[in-house]
Amino acid sequence: MSDTPSAPEPPEQELPPYVIEGARSSRSRCKTCRRGIDKDTLRLGILIEGPYGTGYMWHHLKCAAKRRFEQVTEAYEQEAWNNAKTPPENVPPLDKLQKLHNDSDQQRKERKQIPYAEPAPSGRARCKHCNEFIEKGSMRVVLGRAVEFGNQMRTAPINIHPHCVAKTLQEEDCSTEAEGFAGNLHSNSREVSTVTMEAVLTEIGDLE
Ligand SMILES: [Zn+2]
Ligand SMILES: [Zn+2]
Repeated sequence: MSDTPSAPEPPEQELPPYVIEGARSSRSRCKTCRRGIDKDTLRLGILIEGPYGTGYMWHHLKCAAKRRFEQVTEAYEQEAWNNAKTPPENVPPLDKLQKLHNDSDQQRKERKQIPYAEPAPSGRARCKHCNEFIEKGSMRVVLGRAVEFGNQMRTAPINIHPHCVAKTLQEEDCSTEAEGFAGNLHSNSREVSTVTMEAVLTEIGDLE
């Protein structure tokens, strides 16, 4: 008999690499989106061998489909729902998850990296530095500003006049680096022609 104080798991049982199940409680957290997984919501468990032993890392099934579709495919091939203590009554068809994955991939590709320059789509937005409107069709520069979101810091995009960029980069809550700025702006703004980019950079001026 063992007298180990807390070993709830039977020793070295062979655990399957994947489990798909309705969450048995609301206590697990999705490793992809970091939000809680509500009880009964479908989740994918991926077996991980860590320093504290072997166990499952949980992901919302939908989050897993978006970010690690290959593993979802494997789990489906192995019919991982049969590994659940209580197998879920139904799981979405794989081609539905494939679509989720493709859409999210597409979105990620289209998302622009800060900093970038673009023509202002309307005349309604104000420059976050000088608070004046940015004229429709004129070039604006999108920088990052650190904002508190719950208890973590996120980067929010802010619209800035090119001639207000240098001063904004010196603000304490600006999360865009002045170092290498021109190069980053250029490579993140692929739709902007070289001539326009030159003009924007001239207007931005010297950042030293
Ligand atoms: Zn998630
Ligand atoms: Zn301005």
